[in-house]
Amino acid sequence: MARVRLEGITQRFGTATAIQDITLAIPDGEFWVLVGPSGCGKSTILRTIAGLEPVQEGRLYIGDTLVNQIRARQRDVAMVFQNYALYPHMTVAENLAFGLRMRHRPIHERQEQVHKIARSLDIAHLLDRKPRKLSGGQQQRVALGRAIVRKPQVFLLDEPLSNLDAQLRDDTRAELKQLHRTFGITTIYVTHDQVEAMTLADQIVVLHQGRIQQIATPQAVYAHPANCMVAAFMGSPPMNLLEATVEANGLRIDGQRVPLPALDSQSTVSVGQRVIVGLRPEHLQVSSESQASLGVTVTVVEPLGRETLVRTVLPDAHRTLPQSLNLQVSGKLLPQPGERLWVQLDPAEIFLFDPITGNPVQ
Ligand code: ATP
Repeated sequence: MARVRLEGITQRFGTATAIQDITLAIPDGEFWVLVGPSGCGKSTILRTIAGLEPVQEGRLYIGDTLVNQIRARQRDVAMVFQNYALYPHMTVAENLAFGLRMRHRPIHERQEQVHKIARSLDIAHLLDRKPRKLSGGQQQRVALGRAIVRKPQVFLLDEPLSNLDAQLRDDTRAELKQLHRTFGITTIYVTHDQVEAMTLADQIVVLHQGRIQQIATPQAVYAHPANCMVAAFMGSPPMNLLEATVEANGLRIDGQRVPLPALDSQSTVSVGQRVIVGLRPEHLQVSSESQASLGVTVTVVEPLGRETLVRTVLPDAHRTLPQSLNLQVSGKLLPQPGERLWVQLDPAEIFLFDPITGNPVQ
């Protein structure tokens, strides 16, 4: 196990910058998750740590060692990809033992380690099988086991669950958390999946266009997003972002005035200022009163059982494309498309961002 430190790392492919000035310090034994839209540089960071991309600019440390010039094999990191990459001609047991055999570990140690990891991953009954006779989930567990059995200093996982179906994904996610608790290996994990990021991470690193936007605990990223991009990216369904203007004691959103006395106490906003209002779908209440509410028209209703996702638009004659507002409400509520609803905003759950910089203005 070891801490991992990136200092000012920039990587380019030709003239395009994949990651820019990345500085991170991941403490020994922690589980960090990298998230961000496609192409933001997540895999490049992982591949750089693994040694699959040489460091072009900046410094990379594993433990206290500067590893810029150290080859992938000597870095003592294990990487698991979404497409498992098991050796097809080897059995599960041989696949699991491969790393130990390469290190010339004695056979009894290899066997003991293989059985131990196979038991903890629930694949002990599959040891004699070849990968082609395994399900996707079983193959993925073998790939994880093969990486863990080496007891690397650092574990790098690039969307390791993305090929699994929903149920298996949930189960394997829980197993991963348990494995991390058991082995305590410093782990850096790339995912698109909000649930994985929120449930697995000690710290989440949100990236956009090759740059770090925020490093914080899952709770902090959700409750205090560093900017509009993070706010829009973290959360499922995502936060609504509406253009609005600050008025005395309220906001004007597409011709509708929403009284919000609490805004007065926020000295950083001034009357007439244009803002982006961030509203999480789960914080919006449907109200029977038009007072202090936002009038919307229902477009699509998606009943999910426990809750209903209601897609709506704000009527506004001046826009070619009306602004949309998604609500996550109780499953008992099933409005009809075309219905007019009143949506109550909770002043304590409103985010305000600068439309140009994207930074919070509160
Ligand atoms: P995804 O979520 O789609 O896997 P990502 O966040 O992992 O994306 P990267 O794969 O790190 O993103 O890519 C970052 C940027 O670098 C992208 O613009 C990508 O097109 C570019 N890039 C990555 N690898 C190469 C390469 N080998 N050659 C040229 N450009 C590359």
